[in-house]
Amino acid sequence: MITNKNIQAPRGNQLTCKGWEQEAAIRMLMNNLDPEVAENPDELVVYGGIGKAARNWDCYDQIIASLKVLENDETLLVQSGKPVGIFRTHENAPRVLIANSNLVPGWANWEHFYQLEERNLMMYGQMTAGSWIYIGAQGILQGTYLSFVEAGKKVFGTSDLRGKFILTGGMGGMSGAQPLAGKMAGAVILVVEVDRKRIDRKIAEGYCDYLAESVDEALKLVKEHCERQQPASIGLVGNCVDVHRELLNRKVIPDIVTDQTSAHDPLNGYVPNGMSIEEAFDLRQKAPKVYELKAKQAMAEHVQAMLEFQEAGAEVFDYGNNIRAYAKEMGVEDAFDFPGFVPAYIRPLFCEGKGPFRWAALSGDPEDIYKTDALAKEMFADDEGLTNWIDMAQKMVKWQGLPARICWLGYGDRHRFALKVNEMVANGELSAPIVFGRDHLDSGSVASPNRETEGMNDGSDAVSDWPILNALINTAGGASWVSVHHGGGVGMGYSQHAGQVLVADGTQLASDKINRVLVSDPGMGVIRHADAGYDLAIQTAKEKNIQIPMLNK
Ligand code: NAD
Repeated sequence: MITNKNIQAPRGNQLTCKGWEQEAAIRMLMNNLDPEVAENPDELVVYGGIGKAARNWDCYDQIIASLKVLENDETLLVQSGKPVGIFRTHENAPRVLIANSNLVPGWANWEHFYQLEERNLMMYGQMTAGSWIYIGAQGILQGTYLSFVEAGKKVFGTSDLRGKFILTGGMGGMSGAQPLAGKMAGAVILVVEVDRKRIDRKIAEGYCDYLAESVDEALKLVKEHCERQQPASIGLVGNCVDVHRELLNRKVIPDIVTDQTSAHDPLNGYVPNGMSIEEAFDLRQKAPKVYELKAKQAMAEHVQAMLEFQEAGAEVFDYGNNIRAYAKEMGVEDAFDFPGFVPAYIRPLFCEGKGPFRWAALSGDPEDIYKTDALAKEMFADDEGLTNWIDMAQKMVKWQGLPARICWLGYGDRHRFALKVNEMVANGELSAPIVFGRDHLDSGSVASPNRETEGMNDGSDAVSDWPILNALINTAGGASWVSVHHGGGVGMGYSQHAGQVLVADGTQLASDKINRVLVSDPGMGVIRHADAGYDLAIQTAKEKNIQIPMLNK
């Protein structure tokens, strides 16, 4: 098998395919596997434990080869990272339809998934890994920053976290956004990470300031920076279970505690304590069942410590890795006593169709992104949070792979913005087309009862009709590619979700697609939350004339 391809997406405005939608799919797939972007590109792993972009290198090669010859009225079908068919559709249809990691509900667990994966019948697509719209740590940066800011507002009555201490775990693909997000919010953030290489990487990328070898060294840095009210990020080499217990023993209680270790996957993600990382990886290979049990036991201790921090006065929340569910399985009855970040801080944004919208410049030229930044600041000048965000991102975010920008826009704003960008592509202000996409963690595209849909007003947390309708309407509207996944974020059996990506290549066809897809996609968020009875969503639907038959009857 060929590995280590050292992939980088082509740049510039020369087409190598029969249309920009196919070209964009190739470039974004390649970008997901760019060593600057992916966590483990040799294994096709993009982020989030084993979240992959294609099933294996043969499948990868065939996806690229198929896209190279795909006509503008054809659609390629991808099943768990493998290209399985091409059919004639029409110009307004998507060029690629993707289904990743889906299992019928009674079989939807890691055990069954791993049996299929071993027989090369499936891959884990995570959210944006298998749907080719991962943009590196920036993709989660703004959401993490917003969560910290909202936590600050709730607890301290201010969005400025200067002098406050955040404790968390994990500095991998997505979790690696935490140190910078905490610092952007003004805090001193301590991130515990078992794998030293991950901290080194984040320091090299400018996402983290310090590496600490010991709890003493880390706490000294925390104290100094908190006293000076100076924002800082510190990576501590260690296991969360041991470090958290040590802090509790020393009666060090942070202001905010969360976690983003890859707890969604007890076998290939979370690392148990009581052994070195090499011993852990060896055990994972030799005795997977023993490893899994040790990982779950460690998660139980980890959550127990988080509960004790909460008891001692810290603001504690789950950051979407399902750690509470595994702790509960191992006997921590009150594991869900601290909330998930969505019900705690993010749901009001979802009610307005806001979520992690993003775009990437296919030219590879950062100037194109700076021009779109300027447009966003001009169009949304009265939104101080948004304009501040763009200023901070320009200063603090280093490009990973193709230049890109994350920007939480909502219903109405997404399509207005994309239409302007499409005009800028058409008149040559931008040097090549732009792709618009989003995380599956969006307002109307996911059912995940321990995360995005935790504690819904009407108890509809586990209803997964919504992400399926989301994928169907985006397909009907003609997004460039649409994906339906299972198990992203929180692991097998716990979520179903959908994604879409749309290419603005300056044509009338792109503008028509934007007018449909970038309206219906965030619109799904508004109607999903209005249906669940959220006043803000109902009010948004009324103000924006979104048709909801049962609401307007
Ligand atoms: P990743 O696998 O790239 O990184 C996780 C990191 O955790 C790794 O570097 C690993 O070494 C470290 N780790 C594992 N066990 C540890 C332990 N016991 N102590 C200290 N460090 C430990 O995964 P990722 O992309 O960073 O995602 C992390 C988790 O966050 C996943 O569960 C993912 O689903 C979830 N996630 C949440 C959101 C969100 O918005 N809430 C978004 C993306 C991902």
